[in-house]
Amino acid sequence: MNSRRRKTTRILIIYTGGTVGMVVDTGSGALKPIGFREIRDNIPEIVRLGFEIEVHAFNPPLDSSNMQPAIWVELAAIIGSKYETYDGFVILHGSDTMAFTASALSFLLENLAKPVILTGSQLPIGEIRTDARENIITALEIAAARKGGKALVPEVCIYFDYQLFRGNRSKKYNAEKFEAFYSMNYPPLAEAGISIKYRREAIARLPDAPLKVHRQLDNQVAVLKMFPGINRHTVEAILGTPGCRAVILETFGSGNASTEPWFISALAAAITRGLVIVDITQCDGGAVELGRYETSAQLQQIGVWSGHDLTFEAALTKLMFLLAQKHSRKRLRMLMETSLRGELTEGG
Ligand code: ASP
Repeated sequence: MNSRRRKTTRILIIYTGGTVGMVVDTGSGALKPIGFREIRDNIPEIVRLGFEIEVHAFNPPLDSSNMQPAIWVELAAIIGSKYETYDGFVILHGSDTMAFTASALSFLLENLAKPVILTGSQLPIGEIRTDARENIITALEIAAARKGGKALVPEVCIYFDYQLFRGNRSKKYNAEKFEAFYSMNYPPLAEAGISIKYRREAIARLPDAPLKVHRQLDNQVAVLKMFPGINRHTVEAILGTPGCRAVILETFGSGNASTEPWFISALAAAITRGLVIVDITQCDGGAVELGRYETSAQLQQIGVWSGHDLTFEAALTKLMFLLAQKHSRKRLRMLMETSLRGELTEGG
């Protein structure tokens, strides 16, 4: 039945794995994944939300450190195939690579008109002090939130510790705090206190075209992270990675790197060979501004592209997404430097 004419809200939970559903292995003492049944048993309140909730569980559940682009494509395909049946989607996911998955899904799901909310927890669901209960219940409420029959948050987001972030702006920054994520270059889309306060002006508008699910990603991407003392062999090895089509250059501050001639020549030669090099900053906040300092002017001259204020996670998944579409180099650059899903601040 068409979701607009139905009264009850239907949410699909996709349980991929992660700490949220892990228990301590009695033998080794390490955390190991369990099934979804325990999650439902531990949060009986879910029933009181009054939603029709169905669960698609990965078997076996996955520690998110084992996440792969093929699984992002699979997740997007699941959402695509269930899109008409449900009003919203909650993906339970390990926090370690949640920001990568959220970024990838934002690109794979073009013209998204329904919420896709990723959440998880720092403590397993069965622990007394677990953060899973609040994260899951509020994520479900956000996935169900509608106004005038339309989704309030038609975006791929991360909900964690009372904050809702745009997925492709988020980063896991803390391995211990319940507040594990932040989004330095974009405000939270909502904050949960005694009520959930949505920041409507920050949330994406509803699309005017139907959902398009993309099914391809190209992982021929490498990363070159600058550090004082980086040596020539390392740089040349990374730039010469067999099959590599694009390199993310993680630079200092507003996009700056060494001006040593051997370094600039190595980059210039790689660009001449056809490699794409995208400059993003190692800082979690702020943007690349090529040419602002002498230490980035040469990068600009030899044809390094600006990643503006993209997070590493967004830059990586955006490249995988665009490289798979076989654009001309000129168009690829234009798309890379333009906001496709609100992932970068244009003119910033
Ligand atoms: N290692 C876990 C994972 O990412 C951590 C977590 O769930 O927070 O799957």
